[in-house]
Amino acid sequence: MSTGIVAGRLALVTGAGSGIGRAACQVLSREGATVIAADRNYESAVETIKTHTALASGANAVGDHSAVELDVSDSNAVQKLVQTTLKQYKVPPTIVVNSAGITRDNWLLKMSEEDYSRVLDVNLKGTFLVMQACAKALTDASLPGSIVNISSIVGKYGNMGQTNYAGSKAGVIGMSQSAAKELGKFNIRVNVILPGFIDTPIIKTVPDKVMQGILKLVPLGRIGNPIEVAEVIAFLGSDKSSFITGATLDVTGGY
Ligand code: NAP
Repeated sequence: MSTGIVAGRLALVTGAGSGIGRAACQVLSREGATVIAADRNYESAVETIKTHTALASGANAVGDHSAVELDVSDSNAVQKLVQTTLKQYKVPPTIVVNSAGITRDNWLLKMSEEDYSRVLDVNLKGTFLVMQACAKALTDASLPGSIVNISSIVGKYGNMGQTNYAGSKAGVIGMSQSAAKELGKFNIRVNVILPGFIDTPIIKTVPDKVMQGILKLVPLGRIGNPIEVAEVIAFLGSDKSSFITGATLDVTGGY
């Protein structure tokens, strides 16, 4: 019997095929949760479960964990995933981590409507759809839960070339704080993490020169590791944070 801080819990993680989502699966499973790794890239979600999660209690090669293909911006797919989860596990996920996210950077004066809309669709609407569907399932089952939404420090301060991304991430903050107010009476907590620069594929497009400039502004003098964000996700998912809701937590090395 696992004794981790989220032992026995079912956790749904979106964007679980890479970066922070994958690290969240790693830490949550290490801490005793059964993990559903959801990503639009099914192969990468499978890779997360097979290679990066601690084995759960089940008899097969991946324990009770599962990998699913999910585009978070597709409301039908989100609904279907919740239904499938209820069938397979008999309970809804009581930890929900919204880590799926994309960038489509450009200067404001050059940004296409398409790039604006796609980023908002995935980062903001996708987070809304997953949060709403899971919160409904939790209230239907009269279960408490913890929702952890991944915003960005850019959502608080803005960033050149990221009007669409910063807008989506600022939206995630306001949306989560509103949801926390509505869902508190059901003992469903909603919190937001604002990562700074974390070593994942999403920042690979930042030019070296720009990155050197950014590092000068980080008191800890380095970019973060996805596991350092995942440890905070596990804390917020667990009862260790039982009186924290509607909070935003910077994980930035001080940036
Ligand atoms: P990542 O390594 O690119 O991981 C994001 C994952 O989400 C990828 O597997 C991606 O698949 C998946 N995804 C994209 N669109 C999706 C959709 N519509 N439905 C389901 N999955 C989708 O990036 P990350 O750094 O881990 O980012 C995780 C979250 O942290 C994002 O919300 C990001 O904005 C936020 N964040 C990251 C940083 C950072 O410095 N890394 C800083 C602040 C905030 P594809 O690879 O196929 O696109």
